Amino acid sequence: MTIHWADVAAERLADRGPQTLATGITPSGPVHIGNMREVMTAEAIYRALQDRGAEARLIYIADNFDRLRRLYPFLQESFEEHVGKPLSEIPCPEGCCASYAEHFLQPFLASLEELDIRPQVFRADQLYKEGLFVDAIKTALLRRDDIARILKEVSGREVPSHWSPFDAICKDCGRTNTTRVAGFDLDRETVDYVCSCGYSGTASMRGGGKLVWRVDWPARWPLLHVTMEPFGKDHATSGGSYDTGKRISEEIYGYPAPHPVIYEWIHLKGKGAMHSSTGLVVTIKEMLDVVPPEVLRYLIIRTKPEKHIEFDPGLPLLTLVDEYDQRAGDSRALELSAIGEAEPFQIPFRHMVTAVQIARGDDEQLIKALERSGYETSRMGEILGRARNAEIWLARYAPQNVRFQVQEGLPSAVKNLGPDEKEGLRVLSERISGLEAQSIHDEIYAVAKDLGLDSKRLFQAIYLAFLGQRQGPKAGWFLASLDRDFVVLRLEEAARA
Ligand SMILES: [Zn+2]
Ligand SMILES: [Zn+2]
Repeated sequence: MTIHWADVAAERLADRGPQTLATGITPSGPVHIGNMREVMTAEAIYRALQDRGAEARLIYIADNFDRLRRLYPFLQESFEEHVGKPLSEIPCPEGCCASYAEHFLQPFLASLEELDIRPQVFRADQLYKEGLFVDAIKTALLRRDDIARILKEVSGREVPSHWSPFDAICKDCGRTNTTRVAGFDLDRETVDYVCSCGYSGTASMRGGGKLVWRVDWPARWPLLHVTMEPFGKDHATSGGSYDTGKRISEEIYGYPAPHPVIYEWIHLKGKGAMHSSTGLVVTIKEMLDVVPPEVLRYLIIRTKPEKHIEFDPGLPLLTLVDEYDQRAGDSRALELSAIGEAEPFQIPFRHMVTAVQIARGDDEQLIKALERSGYETSRMGEILGRARNAEIWLARYAPQNVRFQVQEGLPSAVKNLGPDEKEGLRVLSERISGLEAQSIHDEIYAVAKDLGLDSKRLFQAIYLAFLGQRQGPKAGWFLASLDRDFVVLRLEEAARA
């Protein structure tokens, strides 16, 4: 038995005293399931620590004080003027929220709640404005040369002579990437700057600017007592921001760097890694439209963080839902993915995809179809939720060959069936009264065998008679879901055609 990766990490951390597991995402664009891996990774370890009785807390820092780096493809031209400003200080791109950052942060936080991930949430702009970073900023300004030396030693890059660990926000143009620090006053807690827009002024250490990323990250570790933090492989490269952060944390701030857990990207099948900046993403919200939250948790928790996840929202997503529902995967991964104490859901998602296509949006028909095919329908709320998932999946991600429509009249293509195929349909019509789904399925094989007919041809004949196409859902369950008199009539009709 291999130990689950979250337990391996928890075991390593558990005897090191109280743990603070930190996660953070810059809300610069739609937060996608690739970003969610960070929070999910930390949360799995958090649960594993709790299971061991260890003292732990999970925090989330929204890096909303980071600047807008460029005009992303999903932004209007007019947002060009905001490039360089902190995300918390830019208006909402759709005019519906308090700021640009909140526009992307709010749906993400709502999704976290749905996923039963409940971190303590911090907003970087608030932390700066409240003065939490003042001492860290003073230390960084005083030890600017030591930090520059560490950056050079670790990353190999020499910073320009005018470089400062602090980026002031220009009071006139609002940007942080156009200012240069000209001096500072430790008593008044201010930084003097000149901006390339022509303005020069004085910024407060309480929200008038922020530490540059490579210093900001290690500065927050002691301030928030961070002991473990997962991060993407972009920060984990040799000489990257974790390497420099580790030395800055230890040598400048006198604090041991948190235990790193490096995670790989989630690739969208056939398209590559998801990135907010390119718009190549599946957002968490979009995923929760088609799968239950437990399954989305399971997608990430079942895979070791260091392995990339190839995400295919087509048929493999159905398989994933069924693997979760049937408790067919790694039992610890299933346990860490669970939300509450819910019993496994019994109706296979694949069958739900069939049932909703029979019901065509009519919930009463849906329940009838499910009951006819032998499923218990008391968990109505969940069933209707899954039905909506299946409908949206069909519309957005289903391959063409999974889609079907039961034909109201006899499809004309039935005329092309051979006499032996028609005979097969006729015999089947006589043998299915009172049979359940599995028995109907078995009977199709039995009829084919008795008539010396290739069973594949009989299945095709059935699909042709009901759907007007040569493939369809699992036939026994499909026929069982339909009104039985209708099935018998249609089979007879097709046999005579
Ligand atoms: Zn908004
Ligand atoms: Zn300016």
